[in-house]
Amino acid sequence: MKLLIVGGVAGGASAAARARRLDESAEIILFERGPDVSFANCGLPYYLGGEITDRQKLLIVTPERMKERYRLDVRTRSQVEAIDRQRRCIKVKNLTNGSTYEETYDRLILSTGAVPAKPEWLGTEHPAIQTLRNLEDTDRIKHRMNSGVRHAVVIGAGFIGLEMAEALVHQKIQTTVIELQDQVLPPLDKEMTQPITNSLRKHGIRVLLNHSVVRFNSLPNNAVELELQSGERLQTELVILSIGVRPENQLAQQAGLELGSRGGIKVNRQQQTSDPHIYAVGDAVETFDALTGDATQVPLAGPANRQGRLAADHIFGKACAFRGVQGTSIVRVFEMTAGLTGATEKMLQRRKQSYQKAYLHPAHHAGYFPGAEGMTIKLLYEAPSGKVLGAEVVGGAGVDKRIDVLSVALQAGMTVFDLEEMELAYAPPYGSAKDPVNMAGFIAAGALRGNHPQIHVSDLMDLPADKQPSLLDVRTREEFNQGHLPRATNIPLDELRQRLAEVPVSQPIVAYCQVGMRGYLATRILMQAGHSVKNLSGGYRTYQLYQVDNEVK
Ligand code: FAD
Repeated sequence: MKLLIVGGVAGGASAAARARRLDESAEIILFERGPDVSFANCGLPYYLGGEITDRQKLLIVTPERMKERYRLDVRTRSQVEAIDRQRRCIKVKNLTNGSTYEETYDRLILSTGAVPAKPEWLGTEHPAIQTLRNLEDTDRIKHRMNSGVRHAVVIGAGFIGLEMAEALVHQKIQTTVIELQDQVLPPLDKEMTQPITNSLRKHGIRVLLNHSVVRFNSLPNNAVELELQSGERLQTELVILSIGVRPENQLAQQAGLELGSRGGIKVNRQQQTSDPHIYAVGDAVETFDALTGDATQVPLAGPANRQGRLAADHIFGKACAFRGVQGTSIVRVFEMTAGLTGATEKMLQRRKQSYQKAYLHPAHHAGYFPGAEGMTIKLLYEAPSGKVLGAEVVGGAGVDKRIDVLSVALQAGMTVFDLEEMELAYAPPYGSAKDPVNMAGFIAAGALRGNHPQIHVSDLMDLPADKQPSLLDVRTREEFNQGHLPRATNIPLDELRQRLAEVPVSQPIVAYCQVGMRGYLATRILMQAGHSVKNLSGGYRTYQLYQVDNEVK
């Protein structure tokens, strides 16, 4: 077997190592255009921010190490320029000396990754305007950051954009983030990103939502002036463009392999392209959504690594099939973490799929143990089956654990009734006897069983004025005085049974507390006293998530 692999980082390096483990006698050649293989692209923002201090640490495995340990023929600075499918050979350009040569294959794996998208207004390249994909980009950005840059602009508030914004702040560079949409982290639902926007602003970042750049003008000393659609002009010394990526598909396209509507290389569940001798993996491919089966592109390291391994398995005769992607992802933004898995509410709305949701705001471990940090969980599920459709978790410590548990629940096809019963590790420094994931199950399952009627903030806000219910705030007077929903009256939960006569029987009531628990107890009391009552899901804290501050700061 002669196996050629194009691209030597996440998917390509995984495929190569797996192939060698499966077959000692195979001839395996790995072609990489850049000088490095298997480097930590996910670690680049942390190196630029100064948390990773040693550049060498980003080189997970050197070409020499790959050669020694896996007996691979690793050819760096080698660009694959064309594929001849009839003759089963590729044309390679040696970027060190400019020579070209051909190499034949029995099987070929393409793991060519994705290219940072560039906006139309960019036109020509400018030294102040950078994208981040590899170590060479990183070195350029670092050099610029170290050359006295005082102000930077990040365009695009996705995962990499926000990681870069934090890195710039760590390097004491005044930073502005410009985002076209009305929220940061566009993959998440808008209300869930509000704490992240607040955190960015708390750390001195100017966040411009609903803004776009229309052109740039060169200034002396390699600085630029960005012209925004709003008319504002921003002078800056460094621009990080992070408006997304597109599959690097030229090789596949030129070879006539089938591409998806967004340019990803089409593959089957064994990662074979439309030519069964050619496999493709990672950011370059169009894969499929594990829940819906729909075609999708998810440029993440986990799927790239799994697909690389799976392609090698299939080539060396193992029965295997890719299970699809759920888009499980996580990002740290200063002291906050945001994670998501599966469908978001806006995705379900786009698909016109019916769903129910639950919000909760638990602490990451027992409240009595010092250092408990809060989080918000949004759980989306099907009714009446209770099948979990997606989850978003935003907060401090412990977000990673909950999003991963929910991701596994989703992959296993579990329901909210399973979440109620899930047995999770507990000791006070780590969690609670009723873990936040169990709590999410209790709330959602309770709503499905009908013993916990609830209303969501979004639905309450959408009600016309003549349909608005009476709002009953069952928190303490102190909490009420610090802020409450307009028109709410306050009867603290502990006084409710004595003051039932004050609650109108003729009108629908929405009870609420801080996070939903006391509101739930109040709902149970009022239901049994004959009231038509619903609990506000996630309480006042969820209401605050909807008080979105889109103002330009
Ligand atoms: P890549 O790892 O990009 O490798 C493709 C390689 O192919 C490149 O090195 C390229 O030079 C080479 N190549 C392309 N064409 C040719 C050719 N014709 N000839 C020879 N070589 C070629 N994902 C996460 O899940 N979590 C994260 O935290 C995360 N953070 C990230 C941070 C940054 C800054 C970046 C850039 C990405 C991040 N990602 C993260 C995404 C993740 O790195 C990618 O999903 C993953 O690397 C994709 O693997 P791949 O093998 O498809 O492509």
